[in-house]
Amino acid sequence: MSDESSLTRRRLLAAAGAAPFALAAGQAFAQTAAGQPMPGDAAPQPAPPAERMRWAVVGLGSFGVNQVIPGFADARQSRMTAFVSGNPAKARDLGARHGVSRFYDYATYDTMKDNPEIDCVYIVLPVGLHAEYTVRALEAGKHVLCEKPMASTSAECEAMIAAARANNRQLGVAYRVHFEPHNREAMRRIRAGEIGAMRHVQCDHGFNANLQWPPHKWRLQKVLGGGGSMFDVGVYGVNTSLMMLEEEPVEVSAAYAYPKDDPRFAEVEGGIDWRMRMASGINVQGSSSYCYGPYASRQRYFGSDASIIMDPATTYYDNRLVMEGGGQPRREIGSGNSIDQFAAQLDGFSEAARANRAHLTPGEMGLRDIRLIEAMYRSADAGGAVIAL
Ligand code: NDP
Repeated sequence: MSDESSLTRRRLLAAAGAAPFALAAGQAFAQTAAGQPMPGDAAPQPAPPAERMRWAVVGLGSFGVNQVIPGFADARQSRMTAFVSGNPAKARDLGARHGVSRFYDYATYDTMKDNPEIDCVYIVLPVGLHAEYTVRALEAGKHVLCEKPMASTSAECEAMIAAARANNRQLGVAYRVHFEPHNREAMRRIRAGEIGAMRHVQCDHGFNANLQWPPHKWRLQKVLGGGGSMFDVGVYGVNTSLMMLEEEPVEVSAAYAYPKDDPRFAEVEGGIDWRMRMASGINVQGSSSYCYGPYASRQRYFGSDASIIMDPATTYYDNRLVMEGGGQPRREIGSGNSIDQFAAQLDGFSEAARANRAHLTPGEMGLRDIRLIEAMYRSADAGGAVIAL
């Protein structure tokens, strides 16, 4: 011990010996009055309920009840204040469980404009109803987050965007993958050049549609589903690959691919194999299907040095990110908890709506994707012709 530090230590001991009780009491007082300070790296704390953005959830079906509503439990900037449902008993039962006490049905929907306790509306209805209920909510002065795919046609998407502008409200499409930790990490690595130059992207999404199960039944009807598997799950491949690539396609082509005479596909396509040619010269190739078993959600990014494999890529709970090449053994990249995507998306939209600035995945992005899908249908209808964009 140096002379200086031993002197300091002796002084401290003398001071403590002179007034041991006073020092202890002072410490206790300081702790009580000031409390424990927040550690510097504390997680962001949730906003008090009164300061959060207030949401109405529209359509209490499979996804609404099992994924959207639980997502609010982890949200920090968002809380639910109202439900819209055609089934009042279900709405009240869920309301009692989740502290929601304002209820609307599809006839009283427009009276939400008189409720200042609703800032944002989340549309979780069948696709064929997205445009109508989005426009009505925007006209009621609410911000709208609409489930994917945005609507049945690009004309409907344009009308939704026009209504958002006319009412000075924000419109987002619920592309939750943009908030999902594995996909965000893949995007970061791709943009940081960790796979080298991008050479090819492959995306496959599908499941076996069940004509008897209500959430699948409307998906197989043109008027409610908008389109078939390409609308429902193919859109993940289109949207997520474009999120990773930061460039737009210059042409598309597609071919229908599903069993002949299958009664499920009287109105919408069961499957499509598609291709987007990018300005840089690479191809993004994908398939979407209502005839795959088991459920498939796979994306693969092939680079000049390494590749990223995501399997599953876009599920709710358990996405995986694996890297191959780059001079290292095949390795799984831990990226966080997929379930975080739901609350992150809600809070992302709440923050955008509060500031009245564009959401990370705005209506214009949903319109772009529907235009691409429409071009793919045009190609498939023309036997796979290349459609220039
Ligand atoms: P469901 O059929 O389970 O739920 C839809 C709900 O919409 C119904 O329960 C009903 O709610 C309401 N509804 C109102 N009118 C109709 C009608 N004419 N026919 C059927 N339902 C009606 O579907 P999902 O929950 O699977 O899908 C809802 C939306 O969520 C779709 O846009 C879908 O694309 C999207 N989705 C998104 C996912 C994602 O990962 N982002 C995953 C799954 C779905 P109520 O009884 O309360 O009136």
